[in-house]
Amino acid sequence: MNAEIISVGDELQRGEITNTNSAFLAKKLNSLGITVASQVTVGDDPTAIINCVREAQDRAEIIFICGGLGPTADDVTLSAVARGVGVMVKTDDQTWHHLLGIFAQRQIPVQPENKRQAQYIGELIPNSRGLALGSWFKTAKSRVVILPGPPAEFQAMVDREVLPRIIKEFSIQKTIKTRALHFLGRPESTLMSELKPIMKDYPNVAITSYVKPTNIELRLTIIAGAHADIKATFDRVTKAILKKEQQYYLGMGNDFNLANEVVGLLKQQKLKITGAESLTGGLFQSTICSIPGASAIFDGGFVTYAAEAKISLLGIPASLINQNGVVSSATAQAMADYSRKKLDADFGIGFTGVAGPDELEGQPAGTVWIGLARKGQPTISKQLRLAGYLGRQEIRLLSVQYGLQMLLK
Ligand code: ATP
Ligand code: MG
Repeated sequence: MNAEIISVGDELQRGEITNTNSAFLAKKLNSLGITVASQVTVGDDPTAIINCVREAQDRAEIIFICGGLGPTADDVTLSAVARGVGVMVKTDDQTWHHLLGIFAQRQIPVQPENKRQAQYIGELIPNSRGLALGSWFKTAKSRVVILPGPPAEFQAMVDREVLPRIIKEFSIQKTIKTRALHFLGRPESTLMSELKPIMKDYPNVAITSYVKPTNIELRLTIIAGAHADIKATFDRVTKAILKKEQQYYLGMGNDFNLANEVVGLLKQQKLKITGAESLTGGLFQSTICSIPGASAIFDGGFVTYAAEAKISLLGIPASLINQNGVVSSATAQAMADYSRKKLDADFGIGFTGVAGPDELEGQPAGTVWIGLARKGQPTISKQLRLAGYLGRQEIRLLSVQYGLQMLLK
């Protein structure tokens, strides 16, 4: 089955906002085995919308139109679609009275245009997150779904209303299920070539890779009937992958967040962490603090960008830095040790390296040392040789991720 997504809005067409709605919807449709054959973006222009809807009927059995349902002058979608395919716009009295009530309560004058927010075509789709209604109707050739543009409303309506209706109406049996596994520290090409035997063993599971800014994601995909034991298959494939790649494995899930994982682990074990950061300039500490409840495991830490700050704030002997260099295992370990002792934490982590673009101490951009000190245990360090072409922000971001990975072990 073919679908088409028509996104309406001048801001979208000019590239001022990113079309996250169509990406969200395409992914969901794909998981139901519905192919999004084309995606069209059109401005707030009735003639253009009319033409798009007419043409889409020849291409798609199901047409999604999003945006332009509000009460402002540029919101013309509903009337244009109605004219384009020759259907009536209706008003839902209950919604209209509800709207009048809201306006009265907030003491906002009602404009004639506000009535548009109570209008729909065919059958209405309720909107639990906003005011504009969605529409669902049939033309001679296609099913048409109209949804509001604000992403929170759009996504809620897709998940709660639209997908269940599609599954029912088109009697969709087969679904596509996916599982995301996250890795760090293995080049994508190496990882994928090591997984070739597993792909052969499980021909019905597609394994694809995706390089994200923070790590590499492997996506397992199965197309199966409603009764297949998808979880068991995913578990077997995951086990086979981890037998080879456990060392680089971070975790599982679409919303996986490494910092979240690490904060959770430390919390569970009632351990505290601190650190001293050079090239990352506080990004590690900021990442930790982005997780709710971080206060249980983090009292504070240090940003020691210049060598002098490493000496004056942390008390690292100048001779140690002079002898080994700033970008060295010894300095990273000292940053970890001294910061840990200063705050009497269980862990101390130190980041030093070359964020680039220029080299430092004869070392290329992407050379990073991470030190990790743990109370009562020998301090360790790890060297990264990240690609210099990555750019400063990417090198700093990846350094933090590698630091978090060391804590996961
Ligand atoms: P409203 O009642 O808010 O006007 P609407 O249905 O008329 O709703 P639009 O005016 O098209 O929707 O868009 C409202 C806002 O929603 C836009 O400013 C934009 O921020 C966001 N938006 C619209 N379309 C998309 C899209 N395809 N992807 C992401 N965001 C979008
Ligand atoms: Mg609008």
